[in-house]
Amino acid sequence: MLVRKVARAAVVALGMLLPLVAVAAPSASAEAAQPQALVRTLYYDTSQAQEFAADWDKAAANWNASVVNVRLVKKSAGTPTNIRIYADNGWPRAYVTSLGNGTVYMGRQAVQQGYYRPRISTHEIGHILGLPDRRTGLCADLMSGSSAPVSCKNDLPNAAERAEVDRRFAGSLAAADVRAAGFAAQSATECYVF
Ligand SMILES: [Zn+2]
Repeated sequence: MLVRKVARAAVVALGMLLPLVAVAAPSASAEAAQPQALVRTLYYDTSQAQEFAADWDKAAANWNASVVNVRLVKKSAGTPTNIRIYADNGWPRAYVTSLGNGTVYMGRQAVQQGYYRPRISTHEIGHILGLPDRRTGLCADLMSGSSAPVSCKNDLPNAAERAEVDRRFAGSLAAADVRAAGFAAQSATECYVF
């Protein structure tokens, strides 16, 4: 019953969203000239995250507290999936199919070496949000990944990383990419090592 209610709520929510997308699309050129503060919503799915689901929720909360142009929401019945999440015994990594869409892995190899789990998950989501690895060795940089000391527990993007994500999701390109949510037809993959 609850599931049905949630599903119905999601359908209603989608019904409200679709007209907005339809209205927003023709204004792409105007958007380029005058950036809008439309928030794009990306749905992430932790149903396959195994023992790391809470770490991915933390990553979503970290990004939601850090940027304004994109919002991460846990997938529920009736919502699309932008970010698929898995776990295995390898190294954490991200396969980015397009801005805001892709697959991420929590790898037990890094966890067993002592790397801080929320920093790993937030870093990998950073790739989905368009950030590359920057192996500066600095703990203050989220995208420095494993080049920072194992003891580093900073799981928040720095000011430049926050600004870069907001920039990427501010324009009309982001609107088109996110509108193509789900990635059945996407074949290009990119792998970033944590
Ligand atoms: Zn990385």
